[in-house]
Amino acid sequence: MVSWSALTAGFAFPECDRCPYVLAVVSLRHRNYPSHIDSEGMRLTFHGVRGSTPCHGEEIRRYGGNTSCVELSIPGDPPLLLDLGTGVRYAGTAHGDVASVNCLLGHLHWDHIQGLPFYSPALRAGTSITIHGPAQSDGRGVGDTLRSVVTPPMFPVSIDEFPAAFEFVDHGDDEFTVGSTMVLSRLVPHIGPTLGYRVSWGGCSVAYISDHQEPLNGEVCSSGVRELCSGVDVLIHDAQYLDADFIGHETWGHCRVDYALRLAESCGVKTLVLFHHDPARDDDALDAVASTAAEWGREHGIAVLTASEGLIIEVTGAG
Ligand SMILES: [Zn+2]
Ligand SMILES: [Zn+2]
Repeated sequence: MVSWSALTAGFAFPECDRCPYVLAVVSLRHRNYPSHIDSEGMRLTFHGVRGSTPCHGEEIRRYGGNTSCVELSIPGDPPLLLDLGTGVRYAGTAHGDVASVNCLLGHLHWDHIQGLPFYSPALRAGTSITIHGPAQSDGRGVGDTLRSVVTPPMFPVSIDEFPAAFEFVDHGDDEFTVGSTMVLSRLVPHIGPTLGYRVSWGGCSVAYISDHQEPLNGEVCSSGVRELCSGVDVLIHDAQYLDADFIGHETWGHCRVDYALRLAESCGVKTLVLFHHDPARDDDALDAVASTAAEWGREHGIAVLTASEGLIIEVTGAG
């Protein structure tokens, strides 16, 4: 096992120098992400950062092509997964024979659930997997909705035939605990019932809003989104479109990078992580986004990072 200090040695992260809340960022093309190395704080590991559909190719090699999955690690707690896109397969490799896992599922679109059947701890008896997610407007819970997808003929076996024990918990606008964390869930404008989450632990806070319909009426955001984001240490947010992409896609449930920046500024976010990249955005284009957004952040007192697979953030904060 590679040690944390070995992974971080020699890396320099100038964009983080201005942010006291992010201790280290490691961008690796490394499949054994050190999510279980002892940490005194909250750690985020990005296993999948794309929106819409997985993609691959030399042109997206550095940022990666797996869909949404971020792991939040707390000392002494089971792994907490934010979404189950194709990136969760790599989280499974790192988790080995973990006894229990929790997941906060933002919504049920394919790019957020497609990795679930390939998460290897689900194939072991004795693993306990608890999935929190939004109930549907037709009354179906998150469990019934997933069962309707992970079942023949779309998948060889049904979710109830997996050896692991699944538990499903429905939420709307709620407050609840997961392990030793406090979780705030709020409905977020997208297409279909969608939750954003704010997870707080030990004076640190992380908000996760992977898919967010930019308001078209000039408002900054809904009251629920403001609750999730206000003063948060790290906001992981939809960054699907650039201005040019938005034309013709104004109502597809997403937002522009510029909107994510304005939202972060309006809500007093300390660190913004641009996430859920359009599958058509190649590495060079994302480099340009990252550079421009980081510069904007320096001018506005916000650390702005652009998510890539293997990105690891240690979070410390003041609430
Ligand atoms: Zn999505
Ligand atoms: Zn979606």
